[in-house]
Amino acid sequence: MRFLPDLANGQRDLRVAVVGFGYVGSCLGVALAERGATVHGVDSDRSLVAALRGGDRVFDEPGMSAAWARLAAAGRLTVGTELGAVSGSDVVLVTVGTPIDADGGFVADALATACGGLGRVLTRGQLVIVKSTVPPGTTRQLVRPLLESGGLVAGRDFGLAYCPERLAEGAALAQLPTLPVVVGGLDPDSGEAAAAFWTGSLGVPTVAVDGPEIAELVKLADNWWIDANVALANELAQVCGVLGIDALDVIGAANTLPKGDSRVNILRPSIGVGGSCLPKDPPMLARIARDKGVQLHTVTTARAVNDAMPQYSFELIRDELAKLGKPVGGARIAVLGLAFKNETGDLRLTPVRPLVAALVEAGAVTALYDPLADPAAVRAMFGAPLESSLEHTVAGADCVAVLAGHRAFHQLDLDWLAASVAMPCLLFDGRAYYPRATVARLRALGFAYRGIGR
Ligand code: NAD
Repeated sequence: MRFLPDLANGQRDLRVAVVGFGYVGSCLGVALAERGATVHGVDSDRSLVAALRGGDRVFDEPGMSAAWARLAAAGRLTVGTELGAVSGSDVVLVTVGTPIDADGGFVADALATACGGLGRVLTRGQLVIVKSTVPPGTTRQLVRPLLESGGLVAGRDFGLAYCPERLAEGAALAQLPTLPVVVGGLDPDSGEAAAAFWTGSLGVPTVAVDGPEIAELVKLADNWWIDANVALANELAQVCGVLGIDALDVIGAANTLPKGDSRVNILRPSIGVGGSCLPKDPPMLARIARDKGVQLHTVTTARAVNDAMPQYSFELIRDELAKLGKPVGGARIAVLGLAFKNETGDLRLTPVRPLVAALVEAGAVTALYDPLADPAAVRAMFGAPLESSLEHTVAGADCVAVLAGHRAFHQLDLDWLAASVAMPCLLFDGRAYYPRATVARLRALGFAYRGIGR
């Protein structure tokens, strides 16, 4: 096959270079190396590369640390700063960051630098796959000319495809070997090679679409749907809150309705939507649409709803504490979970930050705990230290606020917790969705329980 060597004879492993070895690049690199590829990650951030080489738990996904150590020791996973190292690879994945500006405009600097550099080092026969999230047209109009700047021609001398990355943080390594990959080749040979790469390397099904533009828009459409769906769940939760109905009961039953090819699938409400994708990708698409004269009202509305959830959550905590005779000013709040979602240490645009800021502004005394978050990143973001232990965090608390549903917080010893806090104590459930039996047990132990829509 053009642009992908036939390795069926087993003489050597598939060699993959990953340019941009941040969160996505690292997860992909580990997943590919786990299944037999030899992976070299390239990142321009020297301190990140040094940390990764030193074995630091930079991207703490379930299973990541152990896999990384094993693969690095076996020589299957290496990392460096030199782009020239991609020359020996069969496949080059591009996973650099693609942020937006304050007006939703795509900031192409990292992608342009990476692809301009790749143009100087690409060799004949290589397959380049862009994974970063980009506006439709970027692979053809920006990436292609930069890659061709060294004289090679896409579709003739090297393959080029766009395949969006759709992994969910917190479950990335489990998801990557199963998640279907959408493949938009610049030309049929590139598309065929990219599809064969994903099937051969990760064993995943692929979904071929007619060109990179469709694949680019698929990613934005997926995240638009998720953000709008969560916004609906968050508003439903607010109605449930005033009606005294458990939102999870409603969602569970509502989701049994067949609709179209699938069924209604309302996601779960929460304290807000953060991370590096959902707050960025829909506004990026809205800006592209606006520039072409189309207003995406659902993007704006969903963002506004989700952005308001930290303040809504603050008001719930404040009002529930008041019912316990404990004004929020001066209350001790044990914050369990700082990351933007469950089972990740990623703090990017975490809704916990504005919620904690509102609590502090109101005079509450917060203690911050997250077993997955990096202490230095926590201090930089929250201006306060990460507590070293759960025991220390909850001691004497008037409110235990579970704001990321990490596994550790599902396994709390409730008797111990009740003995550690200052009763009466509010258990604020921002993301754990404790089952009915746990809620009943908490109440029996003297806690007041309040969740989003519960
Ligand atoms: P990240 O910031 O963690 O990683 C990007 C990395 O690219 C950084 O380490 C940066 O130093 C490196 N980089 C920037 N310019 C470079 C260059 N010229 N050469 C080499 N390295 C360079 O970002 P991320 O979360 O990994 O996201 C990467 C892309 O994947 C983005 O487009 C994002 O929207 C998309 N994405 C992210 C997720 C997610 O869950 N985080 C999921 C799907 C898609």
